[in-house]
Amino acid sequence: MRGAVLYGAGDLRFEERDAPTIIKPTDALIRMAATCVCGSDLWPYRGLQAIAEPTPMGHEYCGVVEEVGSAVRTVKPGQFVIASFFASDNTCPHCRAGYQSSCQQREFVGGAQAPMLRVPLADGTLVATPEVPSDDLIPSLLALSDVMGTGWFAADAANVKPGATVAVVGDGAVGLLGILSAKIMGAERIIAMSRHEHRQRLAREFGATDIVIERGDEGVARIKDMTDGVGPDSVLECVGTQESMQQAIHSVRPGGSVGYVGVPHGVELSGQELFYAHVHLHGGPAPVRRYLPDLIKQVWERRINPGRVFDLTLPLAQVAEAYRAMDERRAIKTLLRP
Ligand SMILES: [Zn+2]
Repeated sequence: MRGAVLYGAGDLRFEERDAPTIIKPTDALIRMAATCVCGSDLWPYRGLQAIAEPTPMGHEYCGVVEEVGSAVRTVKPGQFVIASFFASDNTCPHCRAGYQSSCQQREFVGGAQAPMLRVPLADGTLVATPEVPSDDLIPSLLALSDVMGTGWFAADAANVKPGATVAVVGDGAVGLLGILSAKIMGAERIIAMSRHEHRQRLAREFGATDIVIERGDEGVARIKDMTDGVGPDSVLECVGTQESMQQAIHSVRPGGSVGYVGVPHGVELSGQELFYAHVHLHGGPAPVRRYLPDLIKQVWERRINPGRVFDLTLPLAQVAEAYRAMDERRAIKTLLRP
């Protein structure tokens, strides 16, 4: 089969790879219905995160179970499944506490930008839809595999409550779906920080009530200004840079919460500053598995349409162009069809 392999900065190849096989009795093989490129794939693609060797890429996936190992009980061939970028047993103490992305047996699932994928710990990891979905639902189901689950976690970690004022730092797919999540959780006012017109439109469609184009200290001042000097109850940090993290911590109200889901690159926090900010900080790799059953139901009943973040669809063979389009910000997120 042919799949995406990253060789170094800007060097993404679509090339022949060994097709995956069942290795452990708890594995399943998935035939991909759709996959996509993640904002976090761009860190190594831009050379901002070193890779030791040519690396098969992609960790967002949904598709039909092709084969299962002898120990797999809850999923069977022919079922349509969605799962997170971390495989988890869903039975250990961390899983039972709702932190499947810290599972004692967790395994990163990579190499999904390909027609076939091996998923470990299939019983704990894969969640099946009620039936094989119609084609128009696939983008929204695929979005649950990472970006929607991560946006939801950002809002959950930021303790978004009905009637709350929320700010969202970052207008990538996760930030945009953080807006949608905050809206569903009942936020009354949602301030999106974005300077791109195309993304602002989608932000408003998902529920943003205000747009702030300023960044850094100016962005913080603008948000304070809009909230009578108080600051939002909840801030979702969906970027992972020093500037975005500080923007979140400096703008939230005393006693408020920051949910951070941008993978940190060079972020350092000051103890003094945290001490006097009276801020609740919670974040990390989203426990997407915890939210999948509920989010699948919301998509299945057509109450939400997170697949709107895909503004470019390409055949898998054009995966290199998918990376370029996102790197150059011509696309928010690219969906790939094998
Ligand atoms: Zn576990």
